[in-house]
Amino acid sequence: MGAGKDVDDLVLLTLGTGIGGGIISEGKILHGYLGMAGELGHITVVPNGNPCGCGNRGCVEKHASAQAISVMARLSGLGDITSEECFHLAEGGNEKAVAVFVAMGQALGVALAMLVNTFNYPLYLLSGGVLAAWEQFAPPMLEEIHRRSFTFRASNTRVEKALLGNEAGLYGAAYLPWMLRHQNGPVHDRILAGYRYRYRWFTRPAGGQGRRVEGRFYSAPRGNDNAAAAVGGAASG
Ligand SMILES: [Zn+2]
Repeated sequence: MGAGKDVDDLVLLTLGTGIGGGIISEGKILHGYLGMAGELGHITVVPNGNPCGCGNRGCVEKHASAQAISVMARLSGLGDITSEECFHLAEGGNEKAVAVFVAMGQALGVALAMLVNTFNYPLYLLSGGVLAAWEQFAPPMLEEIHRRSFTFRASNTRVEKALLGNEAGLYGAAYLPWMLRHQNGPVHDRILAGYRYRYRWFTRPAGGQGRRVEGRFYSAPRGNDNAAAAVGGAASG
């Protein structure tokens, strides 16, 4: 499915209110040991930058998400406007609004350069409503990646728009349980649980005997949303 259908390795960033991420490695979602891999929205792009709810400062989602665009617009004196309104101002040639998208594109470029340098994957996908402003932010973004990544300069690494749009997460969420059924291991069990599958497991308190707990529901760790988005991204395009 989607923009990633021809590759086995890709990274997806979804630009919304925050920034979500997902990594597909050799055709499989990279989960990390707790299912939390792919928290790409919290990559630091500005040391001591804008404070983030995660406790860090300068996370890419505080500099390149829809919300960040709106905040930067306000700080630029454009008033209390949405990212979409800021986009329309930029389209109309408003210099402050254009500068917001340049700053946003650069922040995104810093994060992408790091990802390109880390993974050397062939494809990096972007999704989310902010993509409407691609013409505004993509040139500074690509310039920044080019400047910061030898790997990018020396290869035909692609940074592209995902194709399934807002439906990508849905496609991914639908596809995920089917895919996980063919994989084993405790992380996958937990992720299935996260998707509110009724399941059984054994807890083993230290020094105690195993205890069977049946039919409990657990809410998904956030990484699972990212995983779903990643599958959607792989699907999308
Ligand atoms: Zn953060």
